[in-house]
Amino acid sequence: MLSQVADGVWVRQSEWVWSNATVVRGDSGLILVDPGINGSDLNQLADDVDQLGIPVVAGFSTHPHWDHLLWHSRFGDVPRYATAGCAQAASDARERAQAMAADSASGIPLELIGLLTPLPADGGAMPGEIIEHEAHATGHAAVLLADRGVLLAGDMFSDVLIPLLDARRPDQVGAYEAALERLGAAARNVDVLVPGHGAVAEGPEVAARLAADHAYIDALRRGEEPVDARLAQDWLAGPHQSNLEQARHSSG
Ligand SMILES: [Zn+2]
Repeated sequence: MLSQVADGVWVRQSEWVWSNATVVRGDSGLILVDPGINGSDLNQLADDVDQLGIPVVAGFSTHPHWDHLLWHSRFGDVPRYATAGCAQAASDARERAQAMAADSASGIPLELIGLLTPLPADGGAMPGEIIEHEAHATGHAAVLLADRGVLLAGDMFSDVLIPLLDARRPDQVGAYEAALERLGAAARNVDVLVPGHGAVAEGPEVAARLAADHAYIDALRRGEEPVDARLAQDWLAGPHQSNLEQARHSSG
């Protein structure tokens, strides 16, 4: 079921790790952001989109982890955009993403995983502003829909998952700090924040989400183990197990 969170913005949550697929109405039609997860979810999303009666003109993947690289033929043969860094990383890791999808979920069209195109310079069909940063995954993008007061955050600011650092790259604490600064500036002007996983934040909850991620990263920076009730989903995106060790190393 789609729930409308703002004018022309709908969210459908899957049971699998509370994953949020977002449907955004642009000038020329609908854009599906991170549609997922199981085949049954994708089919229900297609039903919901059919009911809106507006054509799907594009997809968008916020980052190159398998659960954000999915598609279904019912959404149509349209460009699926990402940042250039994300599109390249998704292409490089496509077989691994297919294997992880097959292991983790059911009914996913594996042949459609990760077929991304770099967003054209004029933004193509994508509305809003793309905020690219290097936290969590290569080429991670948030989408700021300023006119509707919405930030689509990808895998940042979840209420169910702790910040997941990319242990394969250096100085992820620094990358996370830089991302929080940029996204914090963007989030000051929104009423609705849609994370990749978990509940949609509205009103004062938006600032609380930002504060929770800040507190977590600040603790890592101090070399402490963060006290945080959220879950660490090690299997979400691969080798996050050494998250904390890596963070300790990179924060010196
Ligand atoms: Zn995710």
